[in-house]
Amino acid sequence: MKTCISCGMPMTKPSDFPLEDESKDYCVYCARPDGSMQSYSEKLAGMTGFLIRTQGLDEEAARQLAARNMAKLPAWKTTAAD
Ligand SMILES: [Zn+2]
Repeated sequence: MKTCISCGMPMTKPSDFPLEDESKDYCVYCARPDGSMQSYSEKLAGMTGFLIRTQGLDEEAARQLAARNMAKLPAWKTTAAD
């Protein structure tokens, strides 16, 4: 089973992959509509919004938590934004 390199989500079925392309290493939620992988800043903005909506965090706290979570993932280990 593959795990998304960008968000860590397990990818278990074709619909978890961008354009159902199972050769990809990232999931449908980390892809742009054309199937390419979102950039660090795009993903950070998306995760920040998700945390604000689901955890009720303010924007700065959500952004810091998102950056910490992303730093653990293979796609972003070398990006090391702070
Ligand atoms: Zn993903």
